[in-house]
Amino acid sequence: MKPLLLLDVDGVLNPMGRPTPDFRRYRCTIGTDVYTVHLNPRHGRRLLELAVVTGSELVWATTWEHHANDWIAPRIGLPSLPVISMGSSSDAPASEYGEMFKTPHVAAYAGQRPFVWFDDQVWAEDEEYLRVHQGLADFLLVHVDPRQGLTSRHLGMAHEWLTLTGFSQGS
Ligand SMILES: [Mg+2]
Repeated sequence: MKPLLLLDVDGVLNPMGRPTPDFRRYRCTIGTDVYTVHLNPRHGRRLLELAVVTGSELVWATTWEHHANDWIAPRIGLPSLPVISMGSSSDAPASEYGEMFKTPHVAAYAGQRPFVWFDDQVWAEDEEYLRVHQGLADFLLVHVDPRQGLTSRHLGMAHEWLTLTGFSQGS
């Protein structure tokens, strides 16, 4: 059971703040909507390295869903990744603990696999929801500041947690 590395796009790979020179600007056309994103091409390699050294699997946990494989992954050097389906907002169950809409989908997908979740909208309510959810393995929520997006510190936290918990399956 490989640990999961769950990846958000907006606020994590695509920060909301003024982009630094590390980021490049892209346009994405999804249906009739055009989105501008800022992506750091180094993020892909860093994430792949983390996945390899910890024996983890990268998975999208974003409302971009499969569009992330078309518009985000190739631009930062990631392969096509599995996608957690986030359902439609109309069929979302009422929030029990004040958790965000993605959290039950993440729990259902993770099952008994340990996971690290990088997201700018994970809070104590999500932690609580996941802690009381029966049958989940251990997990680490890494809250990312949406203005800056994913940094080395976040990757370091994930690496340390996976290593110290013994979930790391790398060599
Ligand atoms: Mg986000």
